[in-house]
Amino acid sequence: MPETEKLYAQVIVDLVSNAVDRPFQYLIPSHLRQVVKLGSQVVVPFRSQKKTAYVVALEKEPAVENPREILALPEPPYSLLPEFMELSYWLSRRFFSRWIEAIHLCLPPAGKRLKTKEVEYVFPLMDREKLREMSSRLKKKAPRQSLILEHLAPVGEKGLPWAKLRIKTGSRRESLLSLEGKGYVKIEKIPYEKLPRQGAATLPKNKGGLSFSAQQKKAWQEIEKGFSGSPKHFLLYGVTGSGKTELYLRAAAKVLKQGRTVLFLVPEIMLTPQIIDHFNRRFTGQFALLHSKLTPGERFREWKRIESGQARFVLGARSAVFAPLKNIGLIIMDEEHENTYKQDDAPRYHTRDVAKWRAEYHDAIMLMGSATPSLESYWEARKQKLKLLQMTKRIGNRSLPAVQLVDMRHEFKQKNRGIFSRLLLRAMEDTLSRGEQLILFLNRRGFAGFQLCRECGWVMQCPHCAVSLTYHASPEHLQCHYCGYKQAVPQSCPRCRSMYLRNFGLGTQRVEKVMRGLFPQVGVMRMDSDTAGRKGSYERIWRNFEEKKASVLIGTQMIAKGLDFPDVTLVGVIAADITLHLPDFRAGERTFQLLSQVAGRAGRGDKAGRVIIQTYTPWHYSIQAAAVHNYPKFTREELKRRQALFYPPFSEILLFNCSSPCEQEARQAAEELKKRLIVHLPPGKEGAEGFLGPSPAPLQRIEDRFRYHLLYRGFDLQKYGAIVRETVWDFTRRVGEDTWVTVDFNPLKVL
Ligand code: ADP
Ligand code: ZN
Ligand code: ZN
Repeated sequence: MPETEKLYAQVIVDLVSNAVDRPFQYLIPSHLRQVVKLGSQVVVPFRSQKKTAYVVALEKEPAVENPREILALPEPPYSLLPEFMELSYWLSRRFFSRWIEAIHLCLPPAGKRLKTKEVEYVFPLMDREKLREMSSRLKKKAPRQSLILEHLAPVGEKGLPWAKLRIKTGSRRESLLSLEGKGYVKIEKIPYEKLPRQGAATLPKNKGGLSFSAQQKKAWQEIEKGFSGSPKHFLLYGVTGSGKTELYLRAAAKVLKQGRTVLFLVPEIMLTPQIIDHFNRRFTGQFALLHSKLTPGERFREWKRIESGQARFVLGARSAVFAPLKNIGLIIMDEEHENTYKQDDAPRYHTRDVAKWRAEYHDAIMLMGSATPSLESYWEARKQKLKLLQMTKRIGNRSLPAVQLVDMRHEFKQKNRGIFSRLLLRAMEDTLSRGEQLILFLNRRGFAGFQLCRECGWVMQCPHCAVSLTYHASPEHLQCHYCGYKQAVPQSCPRCRSMYLRNFGLGTQRVEKVMRGLFPQVGVMRMDSDTAGRKGSYERIWRNFEEKKASVLIGTQMIAKGLDFPDVTLVGVIAADITLHLPDFRAGERTFQLLSQVAGRAGRGDKAGRVIIQTYTPWHYSIQAAAVHNYPKFTREELKRRQALFYPPFSEILLFNCSSPCEQEARQAAEELKKRLIVHLPPGKEGAEGFLGPSPAPLQRIEDRFRYHLLYRGFDLQKYGAIVRETVWDFTRRVGEDTWVTVDFNPLKVL
């Protein structure tokens, strides 16, 4: 290149601000010409400061007169994969974030300045037989040295970390050095990311050569076709225990063998020690784990192992979708319907969409699985955008547990005002007297806002939006949090005239208290976000229950999955109504998913399982379908409703949230924003206005900010992404600093 030809870089400055959410051009000084690439982290002068920035494009022409110069590269230099520059751009447009926020998702975790940790390893310098022989020879004279050799014998050349050997043998360093001096062992410091993973040597080998069930075989044939062509994107709908995990693992093994890499995504809550162990064992050495409970140091080291190509099988929760894997051959997304795959804060991305993007980028197979697929995915499968694979039978033809519904209105009429029905009480007594375990499940902790008639089960609903009305105390009224509809609180039930119209709320603590009162001799444990919050307590509760230190486990949805206890023969659902009446159009779907999952828990072992669901709404299709394990029946009904009300998957949604410490300002902002947007957005279904609201959000006030929602339903919203973005970004610059506006594309929670 001739010296005179100049090169410029467009960069995104590392500042989270709408005003700065666009590339700025800088001149690349000649001494940096060779090193600045697409994705490079650079330091630039910005306003009067030095700022980190990311190169998003290289150009030969200046966009302005005399642009400023890039100052330097940071120390140590860092560059993002080109894939991540494209991905972050796409993500920021699709999910209405600033580009820099999307770039942050792709960066190595904090702690990147940590020194690489080294682990001291001891390797034997003789074969196993010789080790044993020397060990017995040293037994009398040098018992510690003898012990060290004895522990090394079973692992052989894999060696052991000194820290572990020291604890196991109670030796001091002198003993080790003495062995080294004799030339029996060598001591080596190994960087953490190069470590062989422990596990394989000490744990039993997995049952490798399972022969597939007929349904697994059929699904596998389709997946194999995906390896050699298309379609490559699958939705695996398989009941709990149908052998989905085995299919994932078979596919993963095949991809690793081809020299490509595997990304395995699960909801955070599924990352139990049991599952982590299982995968670590199966993919020893190539395995890496990414999730939020890791310390920053651990996270960083796992990340490095992936980036360096050492780890080729990544297991992780939501954010692991940004793992720096190259040459991805397979992305698995288990429990694809789970809410936690959607991030609640900016960037409000859905893991499924990001995973699909990456799968396409790498021409990889994408395998999504669930016993209760999301309606969105199911609909895609119906439209042939995803290949549907079905497994309707459990392995070994074991039956799904029998589910009994208890009508709590009836209990109420029979003067039973307690939280347990007589049927559940009797079942608990039976189970405990046989020495078996039981789980009591209370859907999420109450969003105690709806009015329920305890005699007939009636719940007050919005006549326009088919969501429950929320109760407000002062002044007393009921309100719809989608469209803003308001009405007075009826004195008696509009359906049966009963006076027992009550605000419904019940927590796990209360259940625990009642349980202890009824069965004082029985061990009871509770697992919810209060008790399982701290690091390690989740695992502790889980292990204690597994070791049968308690007979009863009470919990929220935390216990609905990931747990696999052979001695649990009874599962009781205290109140199926709680999720059913969340003010959310997905309430029915959520309820069906939760109940199905809970019902799938019982009877995974050899003993038959029994499930009892208590409800005031036994006629509801979500509850009825869950009780007979009938997913198709549920989807038929739910799709009809979604279509009638123009909710996803028949529309796409944009949720605008305006908040301010001043209620009036929040409301006015939402109204004003609607005026500005409505001229750009097409009407919704059949020409009707696509907007709902503005109305106060169901969670009307969070951290002293009043919140107003504005909801838009339409088609093909990507087309309007740019104009929506421009309008909102411009609007935020004009409203007061105290007013915040967020945009959520296809939100999963509208609270
Ligand atoms: P899912 O993921 O659908 O809930 P899993 O893959 O965990 O189901 O399988 C359920 C149980 O059946 C597991 O214990 C698994 O090891 C076992 N299993 C799966 N496939 C087979 C098979 N082909 N033959 C025998 N056992 C199997
Ligand atoms: Zn009633
Ligand atoms: Zn409404």
